[in-house]
Amino acid sequence: LYVDHPLGAGQTVPLDRDQAHYLFGVMRLAVGARVALFNGRDGEWQAEVAEASKRCGVLACVEQSKPLQLPPDLWLIFAPIKKARTDFIVEKAAEMGAARILPVATDFTNSERIRQDRLQAHAVEAAEQCGGTYVPEVAELQKLSALLDHWPENRQLMFCDEAEVGQRLFLDAVQSEDPPTASGPWAILIGPEGGFSDAERKRLQAMQQAHVVSLGPRILRADTAAVAAMTLWQRALGD
Ligand code: SAM
Repeated sequence: LYVDHPLGAGQTVPLDRDQAHYLFGVMRLAVGARVALFNGRDGEWQAEVAEASKRCGVLACVEQSKPLQLPPDLWLIFAPIKKARTDFIVEKAAEMGAARILPVATDFTNSERIRQDRLQAHAVEAAEQCGGTYVPEVAELQKLSALLDHWPENRQLMFCDEAEVGQRLFLDAVQSEDPPTASGPWAILIGPEGGFSDAERKRLQAMQQAHVVSLGPRILRADTAAVAAMTLWQRALGD
């Protein structure tokens, strides 16, 4: 169970109404039962139900069952598409070990608005279901150009673009020594349904940290492209 509360030896964790309903109403746990907790910061802790009622309750931390497992420093940057497909991208990025998820507005973005809180909740749920101890931060929507204005000097950017036939394949670029990319940190950039504009392409192609890469000869939908790129990245560099 995810809780937004510090976890540690001797720590007690108050439950809100939804959590109490889930544990005591749905799961039918009683005082003394064990629950695994994580908060994205302190690893996984086994806790005991100390107080239980319909609307609230208290858990008492007993022992740590998993240390915090931080993912490699990989950002997934994508342009939001339709709601269900955007939810899918966030969920899969969280499952596959993205450290941060950054929605960006591009020149051809389909959706100018996102519910960051909803997307963050999807990331929490994905971590919860996969037994993770870390929850990637889902950033607020920002302009791609603004993100590039402050791009970190040492972060490699895998710019996935279907436009140019014959460009380097993702796996070749991510393992390349020229320029060396293996030391990271990294980011993957996936465009919207309409792809990138010429101006965006020009700007990205001119960036020293950006590597234009192909995911193969077929044009993939943005959500498929995000999963394919993360899979290839995991294959080459993940742990
Ligand atoms: N511009 C295209 C069009 O309108 O026909 C399609 C864009 S595609 C649906 C969405 C995004 O997925 C692209 O911007 C790119 O980041 C990524 N993508 C899809 N297929 C790709 C491929 N074969 N290689 C690299 N990136 C790809």
